[in-house]
Amino acid sequence: MKCVICSREADKKGYCELHMKAYESIVKKYDVWKKALETSWKEYLSEIVKNSLTGELAKEVAEYLIRGGEKQSVTQS
Ligand SMILES: [Zn+2]
Repeated sequence: MKCVICSREADKKGYCELHMKAYESIVKKYDVWKKALETSWKEYLSEIVKNSLTGELAKEVAEYLIRGGEKQSVTQS
C-alpha cells in the first residue's frame, strides 16, 4: 500500500512514516487550538496550509484532509 500523499510505503492508516508523523502533530496541535480558539477542524487545517512556518509535510497532510481524504476525523467530537 502506498501513502495517500506521496509514493512511499504506507501503514494501515494510509500514511507513510513521515506523513503519519505530520498528521499526528496536526491532530495534537488541534487540541491546543480548540482550547484557545473557537476553530473548526477545517478552519484549523486551512490555517496550517496558509502558515508559512508550517513544514511541507504538515501542509501536504492538511491539504489532503481539506480535500476530504478523511471522512471521519478522530478529533471531531
Ligand atoms: Zn507520505
